Amino acid sequence: MSSEIPSTDTNVRLERRGAAASPGIGIGPAYVVDRRRVQVPHQKIDKAETEAEVARFRAALRETHDQIEGVKSRLGHGEHRQILKAQQLMLRDPDLIQRTERLIQDESLNAEWAVARVSDQIQERFDAIEDEYLAARQFDVAFLTERILRTLLGTNPDEIHPPEGAVVIAHDLSPADTAQLHEHKVAAIVTDEGAPTSHAAITARSLEIPAIVGVDDIVEQLESGVLVAVDAVHGRVIINPNEGDLAKLAEETRVYEEFEDRILKERALPAVTQDGHRIRLRSNIAMPTELESSLSHRAEGIGLYRTEYLFLGRDVAPTEEEHYQVAKHALAQSAPFPVLIRTFDLGADKQSKVFRAAHVEANPALGMRGTRLALKYRDEFRIQLRGLLRAAVHGPLRIMLPLISGLEEFHEALAIIDEAREQLNDEGIAHSDDVPIGVMIELPSAALVSDVLADHVDFMSIGTNDLIQYTLAIDRENDEVNYLYQPLHPAIVRLIRTVCEAGKRSGVPVSVCGEMAADPMFTWVLVGMGVEELSMQSVSIPLIKQLLRLSSLTEMEELASAVLQASTAEEAERVVHDRMSERFPEHMQHRAGVDEDLPVEAEAGA
Ligand code: PEP
Ligand code: MG
Repeated sequence: MSSEIPSTDTNVRLERRGAAASPGIGIGPAYVVDRRRVQVPHQKIDKAETEAEVARFRAALRETHDQIEGVKSRLGHGEHRQILKAQQLMLRDPDLIQRTERLIQDESLNAEWAVARVSDQIQERFDAIEDEYLAARQFDVAFLTERILRTLLGTNPDEIHPPEGAVVIAHDLSPADTAQLHEHKVAAIVTDEGAPTSHAAITARSLEIPAIVGVDDIVEQLESGVLVAVDAVHGRVIINPNEGDLAKLAEETRVYEEFEDRILKERALPAVTQDGHRIRLRSNIAMPTELESSLSHRAEGIGLYRTEYLFLGRDVAPTEEEHYQVAKHALAQSAPFPVLIRTFDLGADKQSKVFRAAHVEANPALGMRGTRLALKYRDEFRIQLRGLLRAAVHGPLRIMLPLISGLEEFHEALAIIDEAREQLNDEGIAHSDDVPIGVMIELPSAALVSDVLADHVDFMSIGTNDLIQYTLAIDRENDEVNYLYQPLHPAIVRLIRTVCEAGKRSGVPVSVCGEMAADPMFTWVLVGMGVEELSMQSVSIPLIKQLLRLSSLTEMEELASAVLQASTAEEAERVVHDRMSERFPEHMQHRAGVDEDLPVEAEAGA
């Protein structure tokens, strides 16, 4: 479909489809971000200017050196400091300097062009060598090149500055980028890549920015300034919408907002089923600014605080004091309810410059991620844990460990928690000695040994996003395999049931904090299998609460047992979809998704 679509510098109306990742409707001028590469200007300079250009290049090297020095001075003695030192040495590499200067002098290339060309040549040499150590050096060259280019250009291409009300069109966005967009009050987001459980999509949902992902080649087909209407309920992007489209979308917005208002009116009522069963509904957050939304949507505390976001977009890890203040603030805002703080889950799609090692992995989702990464960088892990143990004197804080594979890993992490506690004891610093420690169940291995884990942990929280990714072998960032994202696959429901049974046997509470928890399609199945707490983006809490209040545990258990008997995901989906649509037509109608049945209107002039 994409190849048939012309570029949009004319007023032709076009419609594209993708997966609605964050519901809502947004209309505004396109703001196109294409950052797959730093844009390198290619200019031939006059012979008379070559000396000045060489001087500009040398000044950029000095400035880059100073920037790195600044980062180093904020670091302790560790591996990262050594890496930065090595990068500073590279800046003095005569080969790099002479070759760049020759290109400026002999071929009259501007400094940016010369730097990029030399960097490509150096990286090509590394490409030919299969060696992990050298692969890491290749990363250093790429990192340095980017820094030098940024300095030469006097801009920071990492930053996005869309005007208020714009529709951001991007190839992909990192979770940190998406978080930034909130401040710019954008109307919507559309990306070429990504799937609804990617972290950028999750962030968009939390921030209530309508978003559609997986719209192939949208970046190449749009110019900034073209009017775009984003219907992120049905997964529709309309480029150059006509008056009829705008009227229809205005009506949809009105219906959607009216439905939301009705739901919001009941947000203060307790989440108790018709037959008296109490479910805890908590918030997933990543940033302190989201605490307000958690409060206004009447969450009973925080069920997942993704603290890795504290590490993104910076060169130096947060200090103990920062961890302490962040946790203390969350407790104060959420009182009297608990705050489950997940220790940093970096790696895979959430790469931090602080822990650079993960950048050179061939399969980062199967590599240094979550608790494994924390166990490699124990100093940083201990610093966070000290901050959390200190904050716990201010309220019911719980520590949750991500991506645990089994009991050994849990014990290893526990040993670091003990170390942090002992240090605080020895130093006479106030902290809590009885913080509940739990694990996330995100790997099939953890679900299968949840009976073993349940004897050692204080709680278990099922991260269905990763559990589905790792059980069904589908990269959650890859829109090509998103069709295999099947939360009701028999393998997934059996694993969830296994965890619920293990929790019940040992008296350990089981919650779900993956995206399944926020989808009305799955509420009955999860609660019917024995899940006692659901944690989700705050905005979804009133909707799920209303659904629970209109339901009985008995009917939820009946549906769960029908699902457990299904042989395929398709069969289970049919059973659940029919039942939920019959009982909650409105809730189901407002689920974000791709509406395959919606006809694509023929192209027409605007
Ligand atoms: C999950 O995996 O379901 C989860 C909640 O963690 P995250 O989405 O941050 O990986
Ligand atoms: Mg996860």
